[in-house]
Amino acid sequence: MTQYRKYWNKKMETLPFHKYEEIQSKALLRELQYIWGNSRFYDEKFSNAGIEPGEIKGIEDLHKIPFTEKQELRESQATTRPLGKHAATEIENVIRIYSTSGTTGTPTYIGLTRHDRGVWRETSNRAMWACGMRPHHIVPLPIGTFFIAASYGEAIENLGATLVPVGVGATDRLIGALRNLSANYLLATASFPLYLSNYCKDNGINSRTLGIEGFMLGGEPGAGIPHVRRQIEETFGADVRETMGNGDMLGLMWAECEYKNGMHFVGQGSCHTEIIKPDTGEVLKIDEGVEGEMIYTSLDRECQPLIRFRTRDHVVVTQTSCECGRTGYCIKCIGRTDDMLIISGVNVYPSAVRDVIGGLAPRVTSEIQILLQESPPSVKPPMKIKVEHGEFPGDLSQLKAGIEGLLRKKLIFSSNVELVPPGTLPKFEYKAKLVKKAYEDK
Ligand SMILES: [Zn+2]
Repeated sequence: MTQYRKYWNKKMETLPFHKYEEIQSKALLRELQYIWGNSRFYDEKFSNAGIEPGEIKGIEDLHKIPFTEKQELRESQATTRPLGKHAATEIENVIRIYSTSGTTGTPTYIGLTRHDRGVWRETSNRAMWACGMRPHHIVPLPIGTFFIAASYGEAIENLGATLVPVGVGATDRLIGALRNLSANYLLATASFPLYLSNYCKDNGINSRTLGIEGFMLGGEPGAGIPHVRRQIEETFGADVRETMGNGDMLGLMWAECEYKNGMHFVGQGSCHTEIIKPDTGEVLKIDEGVEGEMIYTSLDRECQPLIRFRTRDHVVVTQTSCECGRTGYCIKCIGRTDDMLIISGVNVYPSAVRDVIGGLAPRVTSEIQILLQESPPSVKPPMKIKVEHGEFPGDLSQLKAGIEGLLRKKLIFSSNVELVPPGTLPKFEYKAKLVKKAYEDK
């Protein structure tokens, strides 16, 4: 087998800290220089905030600039077609437009110039390489062409792996590629392996005979949760890594290495990150265990550069150094700030609830559904949760008490668990839906 290099871009991925700060600051100044005069959106925003060109001397001054909210981008696109007031270039320079998935409201359109497309490809390739994708892999991509994820296809080709664009909702084509072409590596949402294993069960296929060597999973929290990862790895006999991007910023710029302790930041030179307290906006020092909302600033974007963009992604820093030699710090995404529930003054993420309950597998299946009795984020205790028990759950009343006790101990809230038989809760093919707005049915 070919001996491959260790990193996609050794220089950028292993930058010592002082060099990293220098590169990020230089890129920020160049980007701001470009934005001033080219982006009507930021011309207005900066002048409203009383910020003068020259006042920002490096990343240490970034905090002086106000945040950019997703809602502002939606308004910008609603009033200025086609790509919004925040588009900083003419349409003749734009070669592609993607749509965000719109899971949190009206989708926004993402325009890329030729240069932007190259930047996206580069950080995606760093992420794919870190996750273990190599040129000998054959990768059937179960993803449509309209959304951001379509950019992965081009990056897979650029990495030298073999792309098989099977498209969305075509599990038979995907299985065909695995069997007939010996395809062996999958990039998909975190819920997809569970969907695929159920599909295999229903169709009498042994998942382990499919020959999948690796999964690169993202789009929602899940793949980084130890018991979820273990379950997928055992079901398919494959290696599971987690990855993350942001539709408004870069296709991919977070990826797990072989040590699997959170996703490394691999967007050096293209994007700058900050972690803030979501309620006060205070910038937190990046350190192991620090938790807050992820903020992105474009450092090398022509079409729609964004400064201090609020993602609503709630992350925790898992480590700041790693044996693999990559110097980008590592995170896990806990959930979206928008998904956060508040029960008796405690913040609770639905994905964390699933995480804790899933630890009891195989007595449970890991499928849960939180039933909200009123509009979030406030939940009156106890929180109503449907939980699927496994094939051999043992004593049901004991299991119910066990789950409620575990949630009280680990997430500090009281719950009322209703156990339901396996296969009862709705299955989601691409993204899990952990919350049901029961009050809307009334
Ligand atoms: Zn590492």
